[in-house]
Amino acid sequence: MVSTKHCDLAIAGGGLAGGMIALALAMRRPELRVVLVDQGETIGGEGHIWAFRHDDVADAHRWLLAPLVGHGWRGYDIALPGRRRRFGTPVYAVHSERLDEAVRRAMPAHTILTGRKIVAANKTTLLIDGGDRVQAKAVIDARGAGDLKRLDIAWRTCVAETLRLTESHGLERPIWVDATIDQSAGPRHLRILPLDADIVRIEDVALADTPEADGEASGARIAEYAAAKGWTVAETQRSEAGALPLALGGDFDAYWQSGAKDVAKAGLRAGLFHPATGLSLPDAVRTAAFVAHLGNPASRTVHEAMRNFAHESWDARRPYRLFARMLMQAADADRRAARFRRFHEGRRTMIERFHAMRSTRADRWRLIARCRLPLGQMLAAMRDGNSGHAGGRA
Ligand SMILES: Cc1cc2nc3c(=O)[nH]c(=O)nc-3n(C[C@H](O)[C@H](O)[C@H](O)COP(=O)(O)OP(=O)(O)OC[C@H]3O[C@@H](n4cnc5c(N)ncnc54)[C@H](O)[C@@H]3O)c2cc1C
Repeated sequence: MVSTKHCDLAIAGGGLAGGMIALALAMRRPELRVVLVDQGETIGGEGHIWAFRHDDVADAHRWLLAPLVGHGWRGYDIALPGRRRRFGTPVYAVHSERLDEAVRRAMPAHTILTGRKIVAANKTTLLIDGGDRVQAKAVIDARGAGDLKRLDIAWRTCVAETLRLTESHGLERPIWVDATIDQSAGPRHLRILPLDADIVRIEDVALADTPEADGEASGARIAEYAAAKGWTVAETQRSEAGALPLALGGDFDAYWQSGAKDVAKAGLRAGLFHPATGLSLPDAVRTAAFVAHLGNPASRTVHEAMRNFAHESWDARRPYRLFARMLMQAADADRRAARFRRFHEGRRTMIERFHAMRSTRADRWRLIARCRLPLGQMLAAMRDGNSGHAGGRA
């Protein structure tokens, strides 16, 4: 027999963005009856690790991350051919298991519907495969990307392996970018997270035109890297692969409408990710805090509020889309790789603010200068990229 569940707010999709909103509301707005629906069995997905840098998240929003951070380091390195750079900004990692645990601790069990596929969503109703419904005063759709054909997209492909070694790896801090590997097919790097003394996560990352990654080649690169470090792998604990969209441009309104019409959206579905790196945990935190601070998140005004929030963020991120374009639309793979390398050779403050999407006007000039565009293109690019802070208003 089909049933209807009534609530104040229904969240469609309990991945990174939806899970964070559910947690934020449970922590800050316990009076609201929230229902969270996901087709998977766990909130946040299976075995994900989301890393972020301290400056990527506002101090005012750290309360949300406190129950989630599993690892932290005092700084990170960037490795370039013949050069190692040290950065003092702390890095943290959130494990999706922690998000699942925290959400389940914070919300009544009957309000978390996992293993349930949503087949239709509108601004007040979720229709679940099999006929059950969730009826709400408002819906937030966080089911991952909308119709990406509405945007100009490139990809960050990522194959990650968590390895247990026979001995300690000897690393004290992450290597956020290790670009010492072969760049002949375009910008490629490894990201290394030393999780425990003998456990290391190695991500093989490429910036590419298409989302397909060659898992076998990535696995071989990871194995080669481990061997070159003198590490012996006792066990591969986890493997993960995926492709993160990078936004080079596109029509925000068309993209927004391509998701469920007039339904509030969060996460990739709202275009809320770093246009040039594809990472979205900082946006997920910012969005969740924004929703938790709304006067009444369980009302029809939530659509307009979240649309404005996402639209302002999108507009303010023009400089990062511009950089992604300069990188990905370079004439050939060599030039892409050279621009990627020159960016990482730039000033520390420029790099840090770039990741946190807090670039100054001078940073933006430096970014463009580092791409070494012809003068005419450089001026056009600067006009195009001349816009304010990307953090939005939350
Ligand atoms: C290998 C890898 C490493 C990454 N590392 C980082 C990192 O270090 N830092 C970082 O910030 N980002 C990282 N990312 C990116 C980050 O994981 C994504 O940007 C993020 O998951 C997007 O969040 P989201 O909530 O929009 O989508 P998702 O997290 O994909 O969540 C969408 C949810 O909706 C559910 N869903 C979809 N359709 C339906 C349906 N019909 N019915 C019910 N449920 C549905 C899905 O099951 C899913 O749980 C990484 C990605 C990959 C692949």
